[in-house]
Amino acid sequence: MIIQLQPSIKSEEKQAIITKVNSLGYKTTEVITQRGSYLVGIGKKDFDLRQVGYMKGIADIHRVSDDYKLVSRKWKVEPTAIDLGEGVFIGNGNLSIMAGPCSIENEQQVDLTINHLQANGVRIMRGGVFKPRSSPYAFRGLGIDGLKMWHARARAAGIKIISEVMQVSQIEAMYPYVDVFQVGARNTQNFNLLDELGKVDKPVMIKRGISGTIEELLSSAEYVFSGGNEKLILCERGIRTYEKASRNTMDINAIPILKEKSHLPVVADPSHGIGIRDYVEPIALAALMAGADGIIYETHQRPEEAFSDGQQTLDFDESAQLIRKLKSAFELIASF
Ligand code: PEP
Ligand code: MN
Repeated sequence: MIIQLQPSIKSEEKQAIITKVNSLGYKTTEVITQRGSYLVGIGKKDFDLRQVGYMKGIADIHRVSDDYKLVSRKWKVEPTAIDLGEGVFIGNGNLSIMAGPCSIENEQQVDLTINHLQANGVRIMRGGVFKPRSSPYAFRGLGIDGLKMWHARARAAGIKIISEVMQVSQIEAMYPYVDVFQVGARNTQNFNLLDELGKVDKPVMIKRGISGTIEELLSSAEYVFSGGNEKLILCERGIRTYEKASRNTMDINAIPILKEKSHLPVVADPSHGIGIRDYVEPIALAALMAGADGIIYETHQRPEEAFSDGQQTLDFDESAQLIRKLKSAFELIASF
């Protein structure tokens, strides 16, 4: 059960609601976010919502049977849009394209990528400065200095930044320089990290775990929301299956399912989803057709020289072609 509280609620009124809800066999958690205050009731007993709904200070009350509550569409039917400022939105009728290298490497690469994005009307740049690598000997990222260098250049060009945060201690240092924190597939169930991101007033995109279920992804988003941050984006990036012909198995199924189960925007990552450069475009288009609000993919001026994930990275010509096709496909969908 979710009880949305009126902004003007008095503390005695709130206490009366909590007492009543507890007496019905429900445990309550109070959640205060940037957008509202809620009481989340956890319990099994069935009761008539009108027993609570009449109480003073309540704006709305909803029954939500899912294990995740605040990210569920069962209480918030309208899709959520995430506002990154300067006219950049993710979700709710906007096509979000986020492109850039797997890893931020140097100033020249950042400048070339920004020029490429600007020339093609893309407003969000991806890139890692803290890289989760399977091998400890692989390139691990430029760290916070690289992020500052990138930020100065992106700001000047009106480009927003999405970058992965790997651990709690990086949040504060990264905060001034990112527009969206990315939680990587290896950290989807790092509950300490999710708790801390709940305290941050900045959007968070959570990737699906490498072997994670859809429900686990939604529960991870619930961690951040219930911690106080409802600026959330979900990302399907492929899962590990027995199939070896591709790096991961892009779960296109997850896109309409996530859209149906949650009000949050859903972004698809075909680069990691299939892991093969030649197939990034068809999978990106398929994800858009399946209902994704946006596509995040890897591009580099010379993919064969990229410090990481070159095998799944588009060059700028391929990237420009993908952007054109995504825009046309998006218009086509809107005309259906
Ligand atoms: C990335 O975006 O470069 C990345 C490491 O992604 P994932 O967490 O999905 O593997
Ligand atoms: Mn990558």
